[in-house]
Amino acid sequence: MADLKQSVQYIKGVGPNRAAAFNSIGINTVEDLLTHFPREYEERSKRKKIAELQNGEEATITARVVAEVSVNRIRKNMTILKTIVEDDTGRCTVTWFNQVYIKQNIKRGETYHFFGKFSNNFGRIEVNTPVFDKVGQEKNTGKMMPVYSSTYQLSQTAIRQAVENALKTVKGDLPETIPEYLLQEYQLMDRMMALSQIHFPHSKEEQLRARKRLVFEEFFLLQLALLELKNQNEQVQGIAFDKNIKMSDVINQLPFKLTKAQLRVLEEIDNDMESNKNMNRLLQGDVGSGKTVVAIVAAYKAVKSGYQVAVMAPTAILATQHLEEFQKMLQPFGINCRLLLGATKPKEKQEILEQLENGEIDVIIGTHSLISENVTFAKLGLAITDEQHRFGVKQRATISSKGQNPDVLVMTATPIPRTLALIVYGDLDISIIDELPPNRKKIETYAVTKRMEERVNGFIRQNIAEGRQVYVVCPLVEEKEGEEDEGKAELKSVKEWTEKYQHEVFPEYRVACVYGKMKPKEKDSIMEQFKNGEIDILVSTTVIEVGVNVPNASIMVVENAERFGLSQLHQLRGRVGRGQYQSYCILKYNSKCSDVARERMKTMQETNDGFVIAEKDLELRGTGEFFGTKQHGLPEFKIANIFVDMPMLKSVQSVAQKIEAEDPGLQSEKNGLLRKAVDEKLKQQISL
Ligand code: ADP
Ligand code: MG
Repeated sequence: MADLKQSVQYIKGVGPNRAAAFNSIGINTVEDLLTHFPREYEERSKRKKIAELQNGEEATITARVVAEVSVNRIRKNMTILKTIVEDDTGRCTVTWFNQVYIKQNIKRGETYHFFGKFSNNFGRIEVNTPVFDKVGQEKNTGKMMPVYSSTYQLSQTAIRQAVENALKTVKGDLPETIPEYLLQEYQLMDRMMALSQIHFPHSKEEQLRARKRLVFEEFFLLQLALLELKNQNEQVQGIAFDKNIKMSDVINQLPFKLTKAQLRVLEEIDNDMESNKNMNRLLQGDVGSGKTVVAIVAAYKAVKSGYQVAVMAPTAILATQHLEEFQKMLQPFGINCRLLLGATKPKEKQEILEQLENGEIDVIIGTHSLISENVTFAKLGLAITDEQHRFGVKQRATISSKGQNPDVLVMTATPIPRTLALIVYGDLDISIIDELPPNRKKIETYAVTKRMEERVNGFIRQNIAEGRQVYVVCPLVEEKEGEEDEGKAELKSVKEWTEKYQHEVFPEYRVACVYGKMKPKEKDSIMEQFKNGEIDILVSTTVIEVGVNVPNASIMVVENAERFGLSQLHQLRGRVGRGQYQSYCILKYNSKCSDVARERMKTMQETNDGFVIAEKDLELRGTGEFFGTKQHGLPEFKIANIFVDMPMLKSVQSVAQKIEAEDPGLQSEKNGLLRKAVDEKLKQQISL
């Protein structure tokens, strides 16, 4: 069996230098190289007759050389080689620059294929520096050529060569991952064929069939692995929290009545907590649907049953806000809640760490700092993460490993369609809060262009005069990739907008800004001032996009809204409308934006329903609009595109579920290959 884990250096023609270049772009093993899929293809298969060539057309012609190659040295460092070729329809002048060796390779009277970009000026047909092959020795013309992402140290030719050799090396003993019966049923290419056709396709059709097989494989193995993980979790002996501790005791003390949806998910959580099975539950609910209070009630149950609770939030601002709410509702029950942030002073941190270890602290709320190694618990029973799509499976596992199989509750504010939830959170059970607390006013949303600026500013002025506050979110200044780091770009953008709002537009009001790289203390102090109404207009980028709670803020202005994704806009809008005031979201967009961006504006104006927006988001992204998958916390795929390949994902999921149901644990012989591949996947991606 071919050893795919061998170093790339093992491939013929790859020496230490080239191997180092491959390593520098993350290609270490033979497998890495084989799964370094082409970024695109150069279409060299289009064949044309000379007389048919359009100006600017890329094509391959087959033509006989009818003149000796002339070599003209026109100055130092510049030699021009020219010849004339013809087919039965016409003639074409071919030119090369400085490639003197070509004189040896192109012989008068012989026929070659030439691929290049042709010009046709009123019948005068020419091509510069074409790629060519002698007829009968086709190598670089007449087919689809893979184009790889690379670095300057690695030419396309070098990569193609290495891939070709790697394919030769593994040919005949490449391990298959999908059993024959499934290949048959879903008409999939075998793995070897798919790998060779994805790199060097014989035709567009073959390339698409290869891609189909590889996308299937990528989705399928991940989905199976997640289902498997879920099965494994269900076997784990967990904590059975005390049945005599009633959630209703704390629910009855809340300042408001819980919604039906909140009560329903609490019942699901309560059942999980009381059973001796491990809870691994995802709590999905739109911004403002009241997830925090659900977490608070669950924490109450855990603490009163004799356990500690950890609550992990994505930002310090949110953690601080959670602490306030937890304290407000749990202190009356004698529950001790504390905050641990990266910025917590060493002395205080020391004290907190000690009290966590000896059990004096019941609920600890914090950021990533909670998963750092030196945090140990006396008796961690419930781990809650408020994800906003930022923690992965691994981090969830790290926090759980700090207790003896604590129950895990994952909260997310981005409603995602079921299909996506299954591949992002396939290892979890799902609870959904699909109802907002009563008397929430619908946030009125307006998409406006530059022409409306004056009116918008007037509207803002009027609202501030009535005592309200305003958020302004601006996009990052677009920098050429790699030129400046995100932090700098962000700062520049925020500073410019703040300047504009303070000095040009609203000199009479108090304008301030927050940004990601700001010192936490400074950030907290500004947020505090905004909360206390000492700041009228707060400018930021999306770095603090998560659900900050300032009920008095009633307007969300998004600058260059066309640059934001739908889910992101929806998240931003969720920052207003948290109090009793009618709230507004004003999306300022560039009138020259794309149709898809316009469609996003329209969707935002039409609906406030997060699930509807999530579906629409997927649909629009499927049309080729990408905002990166990071924000969604989606797994990174090598070939699949979760948006474009959504129909495939759906069918793969039903296959995976069917197989797991028929053959739990993939124990049967016919699924032996899958068993191995899934184990491998679990090892790579999921376990620690
Ligand atoms: P989420 O975290 O889901 O975005 P929060 O938990 O921050 O939402 O809740 C938003 C606001 O609504 C908070 O001020 C919270 O106290 C309040 N709230 C939550 N549930 C209810 C309810 N059932 N009735 C009235 N207000 C509620
Ligand atoms: Mg929240």
